[in-house]
Amino acid sequence: MENSTEFIDIKRAKPIERKTIDRIKDWKEYQKPFPEKKLKQQASRCMDCGTPFCQVGTIINSSTSGCPLYNLIPEWNALVHEGKWHEAYLRLAKTNNFPEFTARACPAPCEGSCTAGVPSEPVTIKSIEKAIIDRAFSEGWVKPRKPLSKTNYKIAIIGSGPAGLAAADDLNQLGHSVTIFEKADRFGGLLMYGIPNMKIDKSLVQKRIDLLKREGIDFKANTHIGVDLTLEELEATFDAVLLCIGAEKPRELSLKGRELKGIYPAMEYLTASTKHFLLKGKSALPEIDAKDKRVIVIGGGDTGADCVATAIRQGCKSVVQFGKHGKLPIRRQEHNPWPENPQVFSLDYAYEEAVHLFGEDPRQYYIQTHEFIGNKHGEVTGLTTTLFNQDSSESLRHWDADLILIAIGFEGVSNENSLNDIHLTRNKIATEQNSYQTNKTGVYAAGDARRGQSLIVWAIQEGKKAALEIDQYVRKLS
Ligand SMILES: Cc1cc2nc3c(=O)[nH]c(=O)nc-3n(C[C@H](O)[C@H](O)[C@H](O)COP(=O)(O)OP(=O)(O)OC[C@H]3O[C@@H](n4cnc5c(N)ncnc54)[C@H](O)[C@@H]3O)c2cc1C
Ligand code: SF4
Repeated sequence: MENSTEFIDIKRAKPIERKTIDRIKDWKEYQKPFPEKKLKQQASRCMDCGTPFCQVGTIINSSTSGCPLYNLIPEWNALVHEGKWHEAYLRLAKTNNFPEFTARACPAPCEGSCTAGVPSEPVTIKSIEKAIIDRAFSEGWVKPRKPLSKTNYKIAIIGSGPAGLAAADDLNQLGHSVTIFEKADRFGGLLMYGIPNMKIDKSLVQKRIDLLKREGIDFKANTHIGVDLTLEELEATFDAVLLCIGAEKPRELSLKGRELKGIYPAMEYLTASTKHFLLKGKSALPEIDAKDKRVIVIGGGDTGADCVATAIRQGCKSVVQFGKHGKLPIRRQEHNPWPENPQVFSLDYAYEEAVHLFGEDPRQYYIQTHEFIGNKHGEVTGLTTTLFNQDSSESLRHWDADLILIAIGFEGVSNENSLNDIHLTRNKIATEQNSYQTNKTGVYAAGDARRGQSLIVWAIQEGKKAALEIDQYVRKLS
């Protein structure tokens, strides 16, 4: 960079978003592109430090620090600053199969570990990544890449989320014949059904699937392994099998009244909403609709936030979100130093929208649900809560609700997958140490199914690493 103090002289610019008043009226993405001049300036804040913590993803204190894909961040920052966009895209594509997804939905642990964040504020890495990949698509640089040569090996991948897609992409480029089996009617896993359209536009997911198809990957939808085909049948037909089946089993809240109508797991709600959106008016109402309802979301995480934003767009009457933890501090605390991921308060898109619409942040802290209340028709009418760490008789509170969404996380792989003799450890597929190999030779696992509910960026990393291991395995077969 021309000037080594730009990370202090130039202020960090926040990602640009559409006006709240406009975006809550539709399902379009809430993020907006940065003007090019501003982006070049922001890229110049990268000091190209000797040890770029941003590009080395690791876990510190149970939280991700740095980029798990080892994205070459200082290199593309310099190229963007110089206006060399095509070169920046080539650098980004070296490590990240799907930057269009991470640049939209990654919580950017790279920024938490950015060295500029010590004396000043971190470089706006995620927005720069988004600008590079969006430009690459609009300039036509993202083209189908046919593998240069083919092997005779056949690999089956079960599940088309980011882990399965990344593994398929790399194995296909290595020359193997790849078939993806997906039980849903569309491909993409949680990128398609889970993360709402305002975070990742579904046409982008489809665009990537179409590219992968044109590169030679075979996609089979509506094929539930364990139901339509057995794992053993796949093992007999393919040289290796990779399980990327996600961590779909929701954590339950087995309290009195749970059977009442109007209480749903968050994923059922979010999937129904996206299905309705994708049908573009061909079905009158989503299967689960928040319109004119008083909505309570139980669970303080990102899935809960996506439920809040979805309920707002469906026209809910009110929305609150319960979390069991306290409000995070505004600044890093001593016990959470750089380069750890900063555990600080933020007003994410969903909360900003709720504040705009209802005048207050929907989040309620230290809340524990006590029981669900219903009417004589078996419909939910509310619930009672207690405060954590308090005597329940003193803190019991009643809340009215017509729709309750449970978003308290995921236990692991779904029981519906008849994995038979594949070993699980605490609901996750068990693999050998530092490996993706399950207890069965030739059967591998990657993504949320192996590591538990996580992030897109880790799923892509797992898919890539599993692909390398499978490549080594099949090449040793006679
Ligand atoms: C609501 C929600 C919002 C999220 N938001 C973010 C975010 O903003 N940023 C972020 O980084 N991460 C986010 N995540 C987490 C992220 O989406 C996951 O970590 C990631 O998708 C995991 O990828 P995966 O490929 O392992 O599994 P998944 O994406 O879960 O894909 C698994 C696929 O396997 C298929 N499948 C399962 N069993 C079978 C079978 N037997 N036969 C055939 N197919 C099968 C499923 O239908 C599914 O398509 C979110 C998660 C949720 C639930
Ligand atoms: S994938 Fe995530 S961690 Fe990696 S550079 Fe992009 S925003 Fe940062």
